[in-house]
Amino acid sequence: MFLIKELKPKDYINEKGIRIKEIICKKALTKSGISGMSFSLNPYIGCEHSCIYCYATFIRKWREHKEEWGKIIEVKINIYEQLRREIKKERGIVCIGTICDPYQPIELKYSLTRKTIEVLKEYDSEFEILTKSHLILRDLPILKDYPKTSCEITLTTLNEKIRKIFEPKASPIKERMRTIEILIKNNISLTLFFGPILPYFSDKEEEIRKIFDFGKEVGVKEILCDSLNYFSQKLKIILKNIAFDKKAVNYYLTISKDYQSYLNNLREKILKISKDYKIPIRVLF
Ligand code: SF4
Repeated sequence: MFLIKELKPKDYINEKGIRIKEIICKKALTKSGISGMSFSLNPYIGCEHSCIYCYATFIRKWREHKEEWGKIIEVKINIYEQLRREIKKERGIVCIGTICDPYQPIELKYSLTRKTIEVLKEYDSEFEILTKSHLILRDLPILKDYPKTSCEITLTTLNEKIRKIFEPKASPIKERMRTIEILIKNNISLTLFFGPILPYFSDKEEEIRKIFDFGKEVGVKEILCDSLNYFSQKLKIILKNIAFDKKAVNYYLTISKDYQSYLNNLREKILKISKDYKIPIRVLF
């Protein structure tokens, strides 16, 4: 155990040109608004994965970040010690990574996610990890055979070219699929998060079935389907990135005229397809 006053947070630019701002957090756990979860925990604020649809970009305003999204990460260097103080009093399910990915590359340097799950395990607490990174496998020895853990891994498409456009610095699709399989083989309860479903690229019946087939084949506990939220706010950046494909651009412009109808049709389509699968599939929109 260290004393907070002994910590000297650093603020520097790393070898990838990302500003790393170490901070001392006063709270590790915050009350969660996510159904079934009691608390949220985020070791990092800011995310190197740089997904172009990211909903967490509001943080830039909240934290007064001048750098573009993905170019600054705040690192809560004392989070696991702070958690140790709080977890003695607070009981309930902790959801790790509700805002930013807990297994983004900076975790390799700081291991804060690893240290927090070690503390949670030490206090026999239940927790769920949300990520789209294969780096979670580094912590397999801690996670496996611990019945109070579960993981939710994201897939938005099975097309690697499209993944690179929408999630440029996140794990490749094959790595995520392999991660899902390995976690399941090690008896870890695994939810496949299919979202956001990318209009034009992953909303066709064929694409949806490919994801469902994979989930069924490997034995996921559940598939959660979510839509592309904040569509109008994200439209400009998406159009810029898909400008090479005129049909896709036209599709986005067309659905932007009545996005709610698009969502209603997509929901109906997924519900119809899901009847062919004997695994729990939930639509979140
Ligand atoms: S992994 Fe999540 S938090 Fe990170 S950029 Fe992508 S959507 Fe945002």
